[in-house]
This record gives sequence, structure tokens and C-alpha cells, in this order.
Amino acid sequence: MKIAEIGTSQRTCWQLCRAKHYHAFIMGKGGNGIVPLAEPLAPLFGRCGHYALQVWYWHLANGAHPEEACGMASEAVRKFVQEQRAEMAKAFGGRPPSYIDGDGSELTLVESFLNGYASYYADDRHLDIISIEWSFTIPAEIFYDDPSARDLPSCRGTIDLVFDTPDGPVIMDHKFNQYLETDLTSRASFWPQAINYARAAEVSFGKVAGFILNQIRKPTSLRPTNGESFDDFLSRIRSEYVSYPDYNGDYPRKRGYFLRSGILPILEGGRARRYLEEQKHLDREIVEAYAGMEAPAVGEPPPHIRRNWDACHRWGAHCEYLDLCEYGYNPATLAAFQEREEVHM
Ligand code: SF4
Repeated sequence: MKIAEIGTSQRTCWQLCRAKHYHAFIMGKGGNGIVPLAEPLAPLFGRCGHYALQVWYWHLANGAHPEEACGMASEAVRKFVQEQRAEMAKAFGGRPPSYIDGDGSELTLVESFLNGYASYYADDRHLDIISIEWSFTIPAEIFYDDPSARDLPSCRGTIDLVFDTPDGPVIMDHKFNQYLETDLTSRASFWPQAINYARAAEVSFGKVAGFILNQIRKPTSLRPTNGESFDDFLSRIRSEYVSYPDYNGDYPRKRGYFLRSGILPILEGGRARRYLEEQKHLDREIVEAYAGMEAPAVGEPPPHIRRNWDACHRWGAHCEYLDLCEYGYNPATLAAFQEREEVHM
């Protein structure tokens, strides 16, 4: 089977566990992999947060005041959540599972985040924005600047924000997590994502000046306290991001929510070329592993590739495909998955 496009998450997954790569990106008639049924909305906050920022920056780029842009982004997010719930209801046979924002607190949290972000980063209205949510698909021979890479999949990805500076374009990547990266300086230049985004941006906009990691913390436990009414709880959520914006802020018994790096350098020159050369070989290895194979049916076991049992439990969580590997491919284990419609990288 032919792999048409490849991105960072596919490569990372392949290096972690080949069986996981097969499940996540190959299995199924569409050849896009299978995903847990609950996945599309489980990370609701991150998805909505990304979407909220996409709309907010779009309105900023078109001259709106940050507060005005915030109102329009909130409206867009509300619609987005309704659509997502409807989609989820379809997947679950009529009703979305109750944990998917059944009480509206998740949406309130996203709006709280948006208000806090819009006021904390109001100066972003001065950014000279070149592109927002730029999805690129670049033929391999251009991406790797090598005619012999013509038979490899196109390189694909989505860059959250690119803005111009006197030193060249800068890439910004939004990350929503419960735990934030606080030690960036030593590792930043080796991030596969940053190197790939920089190369893609270089092809389209010119040499990139750097990469900004824009981190947003999701609260680990925001629940009604004893005796707190649900309305009071929602008001508390509403003020959360506005009251504690700075991750390094000096708040009593409280961590703030926003942590943005400076402009971090990206691997350059010979080291970058070496990195991309190695990545090109990795792409070829992945392509060759599936060459000559038909798109497999859902439930067809991985052909000849190894499982990495060391990767099944990491960072306190288990791999989403563990039941398939432990109990086999049967109607009971497969019922928790659906074919992926489109590969996001
Ligand atoms: S459960 Fe383990 S072996 Fe199976 S796909 Fe996941 S990481 Fe690989």
C-alpha cells in the first residue's frame, strides 16, 4: 500500500512501537488507522482551545481589538462544541457520553481560558501575522531538497501561527497540557516538530528566525468544593484564567496558566541537514515496511512488524491499543475503535 503523506506524529509513533503505528495509521480499508471511539472529544479542552486561538488570531490579523476578537472566538467555540457533540452522539448511537461536557463546565473553562489569554496577551495584536493554522503538504523531493526522494510520501503538518519579524518569520506552537515543559533551552533545537515546521516554513516563507512554544496549562482538578453551588463553581471557573495568568506568577498556593518561551533557536546548517537526512531514511523505512501490502481490514493483525512491549505503559497511562495487543482482535476489543477518517499530524 502507498503512504501518500507523512508527519511528525507518524514518525514518532513508528519509532516508539511499530504495532502502534500500524494500528494508528495503517489498519482499515481507508489505510488511515483506527482510533478509540472516545478519542475525538476526549481532549475537548485542547481541541477547543486550539480552535479558539485560531479564530482569535484571525480576527486580530484582520484588525479587531483583542476583546472584540475574544467575543467572536467564544461564539465560534460554542458552535464548535455543539457540532462536536452532535458528531460524538452519532458515533455513540444517539447520545454523546455524559463526560463530554454534559454540564457545560468544559466550555466555561475554554471561555475562561480565552478571556484570560486575550487580556494577558493583548499585545499580540501588534504581531505581523503571516499565517494561522497553516497546513502544509510538501513533496518529499522539495522538502528534503533531493530529487531521489521523489518516491517518498509528501511531508505534512500544521503550524499554529507564523508571524514576521525583522529577523525573519517566527513559528509559534500552542500546546495545551496539564503539566508544562519548564526546561526548554537544552532540548528545543532538537525537537522534530520544530525542525520540520521550520523546514516547511523555509520552503514557503523564507529562512525562519526561531520557534516559540506557547504553553497553556489545563487545571488538574477544578471541581465544586464542599458546599459550593454549581453556579458558584462556574463563576469560579470563569475567573480562573483571568486571575492567575502567569505560570511563574507569585500567587498564594497557586500555579498560573500561561507559559510562553522566548524565540528559541532551531537546528541549523549542517546539523539540520544531517537531521533531515536521517529522517528521510526513516520515511523510506516506513514506506518499505508496507510496500506490496493491501490496505488491511479492521482487525487484521500487523503483518510482520514487532510490538514494543516496553512502550505499553508510559507516564502513568497505558497505550490506547493495549486491549488489542493483550486480548487479540475480536469483536469485543474492536468495538471500542473506529476507522480514522483523516490523518492529523
Ligand atoms: S499496547 Fe504496547 S505493543 Fe501494543 S501497540 Fe501499544 S505500545 Fe505497541
